[in-house]
Amino acid sequence: MADCLFCKIRDGQIPAKLVYEDDRAFAFSDIQPQAPTHILICPRPHAATLNDLTESDDGLAGHLYVVTAKLAKDAGLADAGWRAAVNVGRGGGQHVFHIHLHLLGGRPFGWPPG
Ligand code: AMP
Ligand code: ZN
Repeated sequence: MADCLFCKIRDGQIPAKLVYEDDRAFAFSDIQPQAPTHILICPRPHAATLNDLTESDDGLAGHLYVVTAKLAKDAGLADAGWRAAVNVGRGGGQHVFHIHLHLLGGRPFGWPPG
């Protein structure tokens, strides 16, 4: 999508610290980290929010979680614990409208989230 920040990062038009890439997903460090580890994991095809997923996206959605868990393990977070979060829509705290999972780790997390 032409005017999407994360599509531009995917396409190398805006710089980011890319930490993972495959044919279905890409991941990069959050520019304003909320924890010692804060990585955003995105589907390669543009989709604005989780509201846009259909059953045909089962595989892609699962893949995003598998990639997220791999990155968490690679960062040494598996034993201590970590958080995966997806904000959906303005009311859910979403600011960039290209689906992304937040991988957060390296500090304790409270519940409920703010
Ligand atoms: P959300 O509020 O769930 O849509 O998350 C958007 C995230 O994107 C925020 O955590 C921002 O800090 C992050 N972000 C915004 N611009 C950039 C950028 N150019 N590179 C990396 N992360 C970004
Ligand atoms: Zn996009």
